[in-house]
Amino acid sequence: MNPRLDAIRQRAREAGADAVVILHPPHLRWAVGFTGSNGALFVTADAAHFVTDGRYDTQARAEVEGAEVHVPGYALFEHVVEHRLVGEAQRLALDADRTPIGTFERLKALFPAVEVVPVAALLDQQTGAKTEEEIERLRAAQALTAAVFNDLLPLLQPGVREQDVAAEIVYQHLRKGAERMSFEPIVASGPRGALPHAHPSSRTFRPGELVVLDFGGVLDGYAADLTRTVAIGEPGEEARRVYEAVRTAQAAGKAAIAPGVSGRDVDTAARAVLEGAGLGSYFGHGLGHGIGLETHEWPRLSQRADDLLPLGAAVTVEPGAYLSERFGVRIEDVVVVREAGCETLTPLPTDLIVL
Ligand code: ZN
Ligand code: ZN
Repeated sequence: MNPRLDAIRQRAREAGADAVVILHPPHLRWAVGFTGSNGALFVTADAAHFVTDGRYDTQARAEVEGAEVHVPGYALFEHVVEHRLVGEAQRLALDADRTPIGTFERLKALFPAVEVVPVAALLDQQTGAKTEEEIERLRAAQALTAAVFNDLLPLLQPGVREQDVAAEIVYQHLRKGAERMSFEPIVASGPRGALPHAHPSSRTFRPGELVVLDFGGVLDGYAADLTRTVAIGEPGEEARRVYEAVRTAQAAGKAAIAPGVSGRDVDTAARAVLEGAGLGSYFGHGLGHGIGLETHEWPRLSQRADDLLPLGAAVTVEPGAYLSERFGVRIEDVVVVREAGCETLTPLPTDLIVL
């Protein structure tokens, strides 16, 4: 049996439904192991049916665990209707946060006898609390990305362009076995470091500057996410002071993490350090996000995050300070919520590296 299907059934009952349709590819991967980009999983009280198109015939039959595989061409929902695969179900739950309105309307039209119920945060809790096996995959992905970071350091010298470093980051990830990048690498030097999501440019590094490097690769489906800020030569008093404040804020955020603590309280613990250092107004984003089969997932660490952290959740802790037109600092690790607090998965220190 597949225990994740039972978790989905339990969730359906909580939401007042007796069937669920899962369409979001990372959730399909989580639920039945399917790694393709198109499919639908219908879970009822006593059955589970996975439908996909012809491109994934062989792949779906090899990967899918716990559900019967159907490959009807592109008319996936029509096949489910024709073969009555939802059985006697009365209320069909779907993911309110990720289902396009067109798909919602199509399901309603195709299943006139069934009430289609959008459910917010459908599988957040279920996918958010990681198993030990998932944590090991996150650890391996984070180790790969950390190895790329270590190999990159000799390249970080005056005169080198941001985009050359970004290209090297992607190349080294693929060479080391990553299946793809978690997101496009950020390499932001000098004043560009004050743009939290700067795209790599043709700007070259200059002596004494800080460079913000934020990147990660995907390994076995699980995403890594790492930020370090390094100095190209001695960066000076103020940059060092800001760096230490961000580093202390990150430690405070990590120290606040425990099962049952809200994402807001963790964010507050880190934010208070930056406010105490007079840098509160330079930290304009949330402290972190869940990470797993998706780079950004539930739970969030921010002032708007009421949800409580479950045991086993994997989240990033990434405070920053962005001094417009001058420089930026961000430090990001992936941690896991453990019974006794948090465990950092990133195998790197956070001390300032002066190259
Ligand atoms: Zn990041
Ligand atoms: Zn992140």
